[in-house]
Amino acid sequence: MQIAVDEDKCIGSGQCVLTAPHVFDQRDDDAIAVVLDEFPAEPDQPAARAAAAGCPVAAIALSGD
Ligand code: SF4
Repeated sequence: MQIAVDEDKCIGSGQCVLTAPHVFDQRDDDAIAVVLDEFPAEPDQPAARAAAAGCPVAAIALSGD
C-alpha cells in the first residue's frame, strides 16, 4: 500500500490524523495533511484505509495492495 495526499484538495480538517495518527500529521502553519508513512506496515493499513474513506474531500489516494 502506498499513500499520497493531494495538498490542493486537503482542507485541513484533521480527520485523517485522528483516524490514523501513525500515518498522517498536519503542517503547523496551514494544517494541510502530510504523510508520515508513505508505505504503512500491515498493522496501520486498516486505519489508513479508514482515513482515506473518511476524508471529506477525498484528498487521500491509496495505491497498491
Ligand atoms: S481528512 Fe482529508 S481534508 Fe482532512 S486533513 Fe486529512 S487529507 Fe486533509
